[in-house]
Amino acid sequence: MNIIQIDLHVIEMELVAPFVTSLGSVSRRKGILVEAHDQSGLTGYGEAVAFSTPWYTEETVDTCFHMLKDILAPLLLKTAFSHPEEAAKRMSAVRKNPMAKAALDMAVWDLYAKKKGVPLAQVIGGTRKEVLAGIAVGAATTEEILAQIKQAQQDGYKRVKVKIGPENDLERIQAIRETYPDMAILADANSSYSSNEEKLDALDQFDLQMIEQPLHQDDLVQHAALQKKLKTPICLDESITSFHAAWSAIQLGSCQAINIKIGRVGGVTEALRIHDLCVKEGIQVWCGGMLEFGVSRAHNIALATLKGFSIPGDISSSARYWKQDITTPEVKVNQGIVQPFQEAGIGVEIDWERVEEVRIHHEVLK
Ligand SMILES: [Mg+2]
Repeated sequence: MNIIQIDLHVIEMELVAPFVTSLGSVSRRKGILVEAHDQSGLTGYGEAVAFSTPWYTEETVDTCFHMLKDILAPLLLKTAFSHPEEAAKRMSAVRKNPMAKAALDMAVWDLYAKKKGVPLAQVIGGTRKEVLAGIAVGAATTEEILAQIKQAQQDGYKRVKVKIGPENDLERIQAIRETYPDMAILADANSSYSSNEEKLDALDQFDLQMIEQPLHQDDLVQHAALQKKLKTPICLDESITSFHAAWSAIQLGSCQAINIKIGRVGGVTEALRIHDLCVKEGIQVWCGGMLEFGVSRAHNIALATLKGFSIPGDISSSARYWKQDITTPEVKVNQGIVQPFQEAGIGVEIDWERVEEVRIHHEVLK
């Protein structure tokens, strides 16, 4: 591969409905679409999934733009390499900034699969013919959440993830459990609890599929102590920023599940390593979502064809979030199932008319 030009498109779109978590509410979403143009004329696509403000991790759209333009793109431009792992290795000289790295790493993997003329899922060893999709519900009130779960169930989703925090958790989970006794429910706390809160023990009675990231992202030791006390599996999200973080968490017994997000862990290359580690160590994995656009969504679907992804991820229909996505065809979930794309690479085309409607900045790097 010989990348001769990288394009960065900063886009901004309004969500169909605001997404509320314990750390903030998102109603407009910015992101960066990355194009990597190869000498051969092929183009790979990636997406920087950081939010506009650092409420989820420390990265933002602006920090990603700076890292991509000034630091990372120059490492890959015009110096040939033969495999995406080589590109990832070059970028590993830069500390942290996983979402910026992931945007380029995704584009390189897409390009690599397109050069081979096969779907990305096949290149990375994916074997699942169907990808399991769940839904993440983020709303301000319990009534709104119940209404959204009702809709999700009618649409055939078999797992819902709800956002909780110490101020609303018990009444919220109890209300959902009473209405939906058999539904797989995952409760995501986005680090909103402290380690000595008894409320976490109380959540153990509701037969939750998992509790996601109850404590601070740096608290692997406290998560290990909590996991010893709870029968409900703990799933780590924000804590897992790399293969090394995943390895440390597993060694300490901090979790029984890991939510793999390509952006948060630094790219497809690192996501594959974490997946393989989890399979080897008997840790459940599923694919997390970032309220992303169609490019990252297509990468998620390819990743979730790997055998370890045995439980539904946050892979929802594009229409749940966007009036019109930037890719075609859009992602469609049918009865909790997504069919992987069959075309080469990530299998979707960019809808350039739509990109132009929502683009706020375009930069060409050579
Ligand atoms: Mg989460």
